[in-house]
Amino acid sequence: MIEPILQFKRLAKYLANKYVGDIDVEIYDVKRGLAYSRQLVSNRKLIVLPLWLLERKYVYRLSYILHEIAHLIYFDKGRCGHDKGFKVEERKLLIKYDLVPEYGRKYVKKLYNTQKQILWQIGD
Ligand SMILES: [Zn+2]
Repeated sequence: MIEPILQFKRLAKYLANKYVGDIDVEIYDVKRGLAYSRQLVSNRKLIVLPLWLLERKYVYRLSYILHEIAHLIYFDKGRCGHDKGFKVEERKLLIKYDLVPEYGRKYVKKLYNTQKQILWQIGD
């Protein structure tokens, strides 16, 4: 289990570095991911990703990391939450990987590619 965790962390760090710079990434046995704009002591940005993601499809893992990165980008604009503006940021990141989301109330419930093929949906 250690190796996949390290790889997943590396992917998250790589993606974060592309869009928000050098951040801390932790993978914990938690229900949901979290994004922090500033940790108390180090002042560094942090995202926490849930361990259960490792059992999900790659495309969903990727979108989940991008979701947390979108929060960091949105925080930098002085905004938070899952409102319309947040979804704009999230869509901008997803499309770079040929992913188009369909939303439930807050979260993505389906992912398509630009050819309109379903790549992931809740339950996958
Ligand atoms: Zn969120």
